[in-house]
Amino acid sequence: MSDNTRIINIVANDNALSLETKRVLKQRLEKDNFIISKEFDNNAELIICIGGDGSFLRTVHTYNFPRIPIIGVNTGHLGFFQEISPNQLDEFIFKYNKGDYKIQTLNAVCAEIVTKNKKNYLYGINEIGIRSDKAKTIHLNISLDDSFLERFSGDGLLIATPAGSTAYNYSLGGSIVDPRLNLLQITPLAPINTTAYRSFTSSVIVPPEITIRIFPENTFEKSILIISDGMEHRFDEIYEISLYLSNTQVQVLRLEKYDFWTKVKRKFL
Ligand code: NAP
Repeated sequence: MSDNTRIINIVANDNALSLETKRVLKQRLEKDNFIISKEFDNNAELIICIGGDGSFLRTVHTYNFPRIPIIGVNTGHLGFFQEISPNQLDEFIFKYNKGDYKIQTLNAVCAEIVTKNKKNYLYGINEIGIRSDKAKTIHLNISLDDSFLERFSGDGLLIATPAGSTAYNYSLGGSIVDPRLNLLQITPLAPINTTAYRSFTSSVIVPPEITIRIFPENTFEKSILIISDGMEHRFDEIYEISLYLSNTQVQVLRLEKYDFWTKVKRKFL
């Protein structure tokens, strides 16, 4: 292969519109001398993900937070990460060839999970959720670095990135955050705030240099469910979960006219 070989990975979910969009896109890109690899190629210059936000998140996790820029074609429902629609393929290729785009860098939240035997790491572009594995109240002691914040009681907590602020976080009453800001949002799931248990009922927002340290009360919670971008992981006897904004990133390719707040208005109002 010559040095100027330009490879693109196309990843599509299996709905009919996505598969048809993939076929058309492949044909058009090949006309412009791009190579569309059969298998995911780590030397590709771009990933095109066809589907909804769910497909976008799955692609990022399946290929382990690739460093290759990624653009989404929305054939899903909401398509908040997705940049273009199937009828904008020509416009996209034209602008891509001209270099008429920008790259939005999104940092993942990392959860370092310390159990009796082992340290485990999970990453979320949207969020990491922590909840009881059973239909029981969960009790979580939260510190910000070494400063104790609260003993949370309720269904659980969500630690959302700015990119994830419009997802589950928003349904829980959390704030929408401009992704140009670097911060993490701790959003409660059904917090109990009575004379028996006292938990903050609103989100708490912390700067990126702070580590959120969560100590589950293992007398009640033997097994805890940790959810990264909708994917479930179970751990027994967790001693501590540390969460912070990590250097693991996703590079999202945006066309020049992309504006976060225009998108928020279009999708939510
Ligand atoms: P899913 O069915 O893939 O997603 C649920 C909805 O969230 C879909 O409409 C999806 O858009 C949208 N979404 C995902 N990321 C978004 C973002 N950054 N901004 C705005 N909307 C976004 O659900 P899943 O597989 O369980 O989990 C994937 C994500 O969905 C999670 O990371 C979580 O944030 C979110 N979720 C939300 C709720 C809720 O709001 N009650 C519950 C569970 C999970 P598309 O339609 O384009 O796929």
